[in-house]
Order: sequence, then structure tokens, then C-alpha cells
Amino acid sequence: MIPYGRQSISEEDIAAVIEVLRSDLITQGPVADVFERAVADYCGVAHAVVVANGTAALHLATLALGLGPGGLLWTSPITFVASANCARYVGADVDFVDIDPATYNMSVDALAAKLGVAEAEGSLPDVVVPVHFAGASCDMAAIRELSQRYGFKVLEDAAHAIGGRYRDRPVGSCEFAEVATFSFHPVKIITSGEGGMIVTNDEEIAAHARLLHTHGVTRDESIMIGSSHGQWYYQQVALGFNYRITDIQAALGLSQMKRIDEFVARRNEIADVYREAFADLPLLCQEIPDDVLSAYHLFMIELERHDRAYVYERLREFNVGTHVHYIPVHLQPYYQDLGFRAGQFPNAEAFYDRAVTLPLYPTMTQEEVETVVSAVRTVLSE
Ligand SMILES: *Cc1c(COP(=O)(O)O)cnc(C)c1O
Repeated sequence: MIPYGRQSISEEDIAAVIEVLRSDLITQGPVADVFERAVADYCGVAHAVVVANGTAALHLATLALGLGPGGLLWTSPITFVASANCARYVGADVDFVDIDPATYNMSVDALAAKLGVAEAEGSLPDVVVPVHFAGASCDMAAIRELSQRYGFKVLEDAAHAIGGRYRDRPVGSCEFAEVATFSFHPVKIITSGEGGMIVTNDEEIAAHARLLHTHGVTRDESIMIGSSHGQWYYQQVALGFNYRITDIQAALGLSQMKRIDEFVARRNEIADVYREAFADLPLLCQEIPDDVLSAYHLFMIELERHDRAYVYERLREFNVGTHVHYIPVHLQPYYQDLGFRAGQFPNAEAFYDRAVTLPLYPTMTQEEVETVVSAVRTVLSE
């Protein structure tokens, strides 16, 4: 079965990991610092804090933004559950903004309309989380304008989009957001096994996230209460977590950064082949705006007349491992228990009913790409 996503691990990646295994420090140490610097430089952003996974990055970002009980976070219903769960971790409420039916990203028009209503009702969000779905950036300039008008903070969930670009800037530059987060899970653009990162130009957000990712414990005298007792002294000044990454993982992530542009270029190449090969079929593909370079974490087709379950199963008969991204978050039982109902976000629900994710990863061979193309052409001609 050709999987929908797969990591690409080189001999150089393996050597980098082995080097750490032979060293003295295998938990978070000097390689994690270098990995942070490499990602920050790549994104053109001032600060980066590497953590155990992308979910931890979202959790710490919401805390660093000051979200808490009584707070409100809005995100897209078409995302992985973590984009919404980060609000629940800190005791805040969640609401969703429907997607744009062409780009599948949070609709800026729907966001503007919902903000207008919320302003009148006194229920404006504190934080909005745009998710760069499948690797294609949201319209961040438009979202920034709304954030300035309505006073909310912007946390970009860029789990799909490292290596992508928006208006000639790398995703994660934080030009239009307070903070952005990445995931380095193996199906994402680069991997560290498990891993995540918080990037920001705000020194306070970075310092807060850094403190909380290691128990809220510090050895920095400048943030201690009173004075240090000596070289051995540390203080817990906040309630933090153990969200550190290991240097074993950081070494893999750092080594993968060398090939990030190659990965994104190959993903775009395969996506172009799919788009051309499917042009005459009864399906839609994600619209990518001219000012966006997608990192192409995912490639999905939206069926115009075929039944999704049928296509999903038929493609598997051709060894094409399909997947569905995503089940709308508000339809999950956990969110239904919080009062969300089917019918609330119709574009997201219609998209879910018709979407099928096809295999896309940089090590796909020409033959595998052709297998996918011919299977899709066969099944959609039935
Ligand atoms: C993968 C993903 C996450 C979570 O990342 P992990 O590293 O798996 O914790 C968050 N948001 C989105 C949109 C994702 O796809």
C-alpha cells in the first residue's frame, strides 16, 4: 500500500542521531539550541523554543498569550483536534469559524462577519488560530487587520506549513501574528520523530514558553524571587511542564532542515503532476492563492459526484493508501458534549463529506505517482 505520507530519512540523518547517542547529553542539550537557531533563521523570526511535540507547542503558546479560564479561542473546524484542544487545556472556551470552500482555510469573510456579531454581543475572542491547511498559508494580512480592529491575538498553527511561503515571507516569520507553532511528526514536512516548535518575535512570549517547557523552573537569577543561594540553586516560579525534546530528536530535526527546500520542491512537483492529470475529472483541488507557496503537507481531492466511502475503498484496492483530513472538530463527541451541533459550519461539513487525501511525500517514486494517477483516473471514470 502506498501510504498517504511518509518520512524521508537519509544516511546523514542517521549519522547525526548516532553522534548524539555517543555523546554525554542525550536529553535536551546543545543540539536542541542549534535546531532552534536553524528554524528561527530559516523563518526569519527572532525566537524559537523547541518542545516535545506540536501539541505541546500549541499549549505553551496559548499560555504565553495569557489565555485562561473565561478566555475564548476561535479556530477552523477543518484541522487536527489539537488546534482547538489547546484552549481547553488552559480552561478557555472554543468556537469555530467556517472554512472558505475554495482554499479550505478559515474564511476571512466568515471571520469578519462573526467578529461583527461577537462585538455587538460582547463575546470577542482573545485568540484566533488560523491553520495553514495542507501547507497553504491563510490570508494573514487580512487576519492581522481584523486582529488590530477587534483586539485579538493571532496564533498560527503552522503544523502543515514549515517551508511554505506567504507574500514572499517564510511561513513562521510572525510578521502578521504574535506566535506560530510547528509540528515535526513524521508525516509533516520535516521530522524529529516527535517534536514541535514555537516561533515568535516577542521576547516575552518566548521567555514564558521557555520557562513553562521545563517545569517553570529557572536557574536565571534575574527572574528569581529574592537572591540565589549559590551555583546549585534553582527556583520554580510558575507551574510548567516537562515538554522538553531530546537531543536525539533535535539532531534528526536539525539534519532534516538541510533538505527542507528540497522536500517542499518535490511535494510541489508531485502536486503539479496530480493537478494536471486530474484536470478533466469530476473533482476539485485546493485553490492556492498567487501569493502563497504551499508546503504541500497534504494533497486532497474534493469529489464532485462520487461517493467518498466508495472512492476511499476503491483506491485502496489499487494499493493507494488514502486518508481523510479532517473530521470537523465540532462534530467530535468531546465537542458535541460542549454543545456544538451538526449544521453549524456547513462548508466544513460539506468538505468533509467529499474529501479524500491522496499519497504525497518527497520519496514517492515516479512509478508510485503514476499508480496514484491511474487509480484515481480509473475510479473517477466509473
Ligand atoms: C500534527 C498537527 C498538530 C499536532 O502536532 P503533534 O506534533 O502531532 O503534536 C497540531 N495541529 C495540526 C493542524 C496538525 O496537523
